[in-house]
Formats: sequence, structure tokens, C-alpha cells
Amino acid sequence: MKRILITGGAGFLGSHLCDKLIEHGNEVLCLDNFFTGSKDNIIHLLANPRFELIRHDIINPIFLEMDHIYNLACPASPVHYQHNPIKTIKTNVMGAINALGMAKRLNAKILQASTSEVYGDPDMHPQKEGYWGRVNPVGPRSCYDEGKRAAECLMMDYHRQNNVKVKIARIFNTYGPRMALNDGRVVSNFVIQALKGEDITVYGDGSHTRSFCYVDDMVDGLVSMMESADSFLGPVNLGNPHEFRIMDLAKTVIGMTGNRSKIVHRPLPEDDPMQRNPDISLARKILGWQPHVNLEKGLERTIEYFRKVV
Ligand code: NAD
Ligand code: UDP
Repeated sequence: MKRILITGGAGFLGSHLCDKLIEHGNEVLCLDNFFTGSKDNIIHLLANPRFELIRHDIINPIFLEMDHIYNLACPASPVHYQHNPIKTIKTNVMGAINALGMAKRLNAKILQASTSEVYGDPDMHPQKEGYWGRVNPVGPRSCYDEGKRAAECLMMDYHRQNNVKVKIARIFNTYGPRMALNDGRVVSNFVIQALKGEDITVYGDGSHTRSFCYVDDMVDGLVSMMESADSFLGPVNLGNPHEFRIMDLAKTVIGMTGNRSKIVHRPLPEDDPMQRNPDISLARKILGWQPHVNLEKGLERTIEYFRKVV
């Protein structure tokens, strides 16, 4: 049994991670400021004596006693991280410093939730960990992209300078139950629009791509990174390497919900990456990890969830 802190634990990914780590018999402390997370996501855990919840903003220091720290606190949807971009970069940088300070004091292992966004609008395809990326440092997405790049930098420097046991997961687009209704990311948007019979909003012409990973696969990847015997893991891509055009995602969702929504086009947001696909050979090699849930199966479960909450 380990004492595990999950910052951002009441969010979409964090709440599934809380479930998994509790299921494994650990003590879990969920820390969240509820900016995009919700008590509903973890309400079923509140009565469990191995689960604790603390409302705290990770830009402020905090002193806790932990064995493992998963640093997930940060809004992940472009709509939310661009709502208050200064807060977003502060969360990434000061949040990482505070979480790393705690890991250093306790000699605890820390895993940073990084992102495929560190690759920006990539000119290497699929993306490998060695690729340095093509990020616009001054655009509307940079509070998030550069924030995550700075968090990676901090992880590496705390490791090199202070021997902190760090692990960096580069998470690619992940979807599933408990994405917030107002999240604004593509899978939840399309599913909610289709279930309500509303128009499906494809930004741009829909020829650009993403690779979608189901949440259970992602949580398994994060846990196997944290639990691997290595005391240090530099960036490791976690994601599903099956790549889809956004237009095809829209058509699949319409087909699977059985509704007759029509597809409408909206302007492509500035700096929206044209393609994204993880090369996961490193994760396969060092963790023996790969996703198992295909898009159809994952969408089925996601649609079932949103049918209940919409
Ligand atoms: P989410 O928005 O559902 O969850 C983020 C959580 O962090 C929320 O509960 C929010 O309230 C909390 N939070 C935000 N700022 C905070 C602060 N200052 N202090 C404390 N808590 C704060 O997003 P998610 O999809 O669950 O993403 C979780 C993590 O994984 C994020 O760090 C995100 O960048 C990363 N990630 C996610 C994806 C994805 O596709 N889901 C892809 C790449 C990276
Ligand atoms: N997108 C879309 N319609 C929507 C929401 C998003 O066409 O209603 C597009 C968006 O422009 C991007 C892709 O879907 O090209 C994935 O967007 P998301 O916000 O899910 O994540 P990103 O990978 O851009 O961070």
C-alpha cells in the first residue's frame, strides 16, 4: 500500500486514476481546486477510508506526506486553458515547482502529466520522443504548450540537480466517461451534439487528424510508468496510434448515436495542429504497454455515459 497524491484528481483523467489506485489497495489523496474538475467525479469514493479530498490550488505550496505524486492539475481543454492563460502557465510552472519541492523533501516518486502539445504542429509524423517540436511560443495555445514544456524542463532539472525520481508521460488525446459537459474537446462535443440532435461542429474542413486513446488504457499507462522499476523515466509517449480525420470521427459518432445531426463547419482555431499520432515504441519496449480499446468500443462506452448525463 502506498500513499498517493493526485493533483487534479477530481478531473476527467484524475478521477479515473483515483479509482484505479484505490482499487489497487492504496491510500489516495485527491487535491483539486475544482476549476474544471467536479466532486461528482469522485463522489463515490468519499466514504472510502483510504480516500481523502482536499480543495487546494497547486500554485500555492502545500506540505503533505506521500510516497507517489501524480501531477495532473491543469485544465486540458483549449477552451478552458485559454480562458485564463496566465493562470494556466502559472499552474503548470508553479504547480510543477510545488509538486517537485514536495517530492524532493519526501524522496517521493513524481509523475508529470505532459502532453503531445509539446510537439506543437509537428513536422515529424508520427511523433517520437526525440522530436523537439514546432510550438508557436507566442500564440493562444502557448500558455499550455510552453507551460507543459517548462514543467518537463523542471522535472529534468530537479532530477539532474537533486536526484528527484521523476517520470514524464506525454499524453495524447484521451477521451471517455466523466469528460465535463462543457469541456469543449472534440469527442465530448461531438457525442453531446449528436445525442441532442444538434449540428456537429467540425472546425476547418475536417481533414486534420488526431489519435484517440480510451481513458482506461491511459490510466493503465500512467500507473505502469509510475510503478516501473526505473527510478527515472524521461518523456514517454502514451496514446493510441490509430489516427483518424476529424471529419471521420464526426461521421462515426453520428452513425453510432443513430441521430440525424448534420455536420457544419466552423473556423479552425489559430495554431490548431494539423496532424497528431504517437510513436509508442518506447512505451511498448520499456513498459510492455499498449492500448487495447479501439475507437468504436471506447465511443460506445462514452456515448452510454453521456446518454445518462445529457
Ligand atoms: P481536466 O480539465 O478534466 O482535469 C484537470 C483537473 O485539474 C481538474 O480537476 C481541475 O479542476 C484541476 N486543476 C486545474 N488547475 C488547478 C490548480 N491550479 N490547482 C489544483 N487543481 C487544478 O483535464 P484532464 O483531461 O483530466 O487532464 C488531466 C491532465 O492530463 C492535465 O494535466 C492535462 O494537461 C493532461 N493531459 C490530458 C490529455 C487528455 O487528452 N485528456 C492530453 C494531454 C495531457
Ligand atoms: N474540434 C472540432 N470541433 C469541435 C471541437 C474540436 O472540429 O467541436 C477539432 C479541433 O479544432 C482539433 C481537434 O478537433 O483540430 C481536437 O480538438 P481538441 O480540443 O479535442 O484537442 P486538441 O488536440 O486540439 O488539444
